[in-house]
Amino acid sequence: MKCKICKDKAEIYLRSYNLALCREDFIHFFERKVKRSIEQWKMFTRKEKILVAVSGGKDSLGLLHLLGKLGYDVTGYYINLGIDGYSDVSQNKVKEFSRSSGIMILIEDVRVSWGTGIGDLAKKVRRPPCSLCGMVKRYLMNRAAVEFDAMATGHNQDDETATLLGNLLRWDKGYLARQSPVLKEKRGLKKRVKPLSFITERESAAYALMEGIDYIMEECPLAKGATSLFYKGILNQLEEKMPGTKSRFLKGFLEYQRNHPLIEEEEELVACKRCGSLTTSEVCNFCRLEDKIKS
Ligand SMILES: [Zn+2]
Ligand SMILES: [Zn+2]
Repeated sequence: MKCKICKDKAEIYLRSYNLALCREDFIHFFERKVKRSIEQWKMFTRKEKILVAVSGGKDSLGLLHLLGKLGYDVTGYYINLGIDGYSDVSQNKVKEFSRSSGIMILIEDVRVSWGTGIGDLAKKVRRPPCSLCGMVKRYLMNRAAVEFDAMATGHNQDDETATLLGNLLRWDKGYLARQSPVLKEKRGLKKRVKPLSFITERESAAYALMEGIDYIMEECPLAKGATSLFYKGILNQLEEKMPGTKSRFLKGFLEYQRNHPLIEEEEELVACKRCGSLTTSEVCNFCRLEDKIKS
């Protein structure tokens, strides 16, 4: 197969575009697509300071690499969650990336203050690890973002469609109202952006590979059996039968949401007695978790 643009040997075929591309033209295609999302959704400008959450995986490291390459003011942020056989490997990938790219990455390790990892903790407080992990990451990320203008994450189109499906199946209006590639700064939370919202998992993996980014390929071992992975599987089956389904599903929702915004019911927020972050209860979820660890 030949590249549609330069007629050299094609490295990748993109079925939903019926497009074959060589390495160079794919990288160009990919970067233009992300840049267009950033501009169309008015995510951020080159004057803003962006904190990019990285896990050591292809999406987040690819995003940090790409934003640096496009000249945005980026810093990475990595949280070591103390997951056996996983966190230390991912931290090494992150460190190596920082060293070779020259992009600064802030590193936090939950074991320093907790003395244990997120897996143990989830057992102790009897919560599903993924929901606990999500809460902890949101809290720490928000705390780290104080001196930045926006927080960016590497969620791709496959992640976003799986989340959308889950939210729709539960008719979770609060989450649906907040599902967007960009959330403005609001109620103590920094602006949150997802520049890879319209990039497929496969495109993201190909980009990281072609740009020579060394990333952790394994999925988080605690995520085994997670509902989000089940939804991804179902969506992949749909995509297989009807190419373009995932993209139409997500874009259709966002288009509808733009014209008929779901109004989020806003609970009153108060400052957490311990840490001062805004919360719906006297003491925030994160501080309550820390209380449990200490007791
Ligand atoms: Zn080409
Ligand atoms: Zn608190």
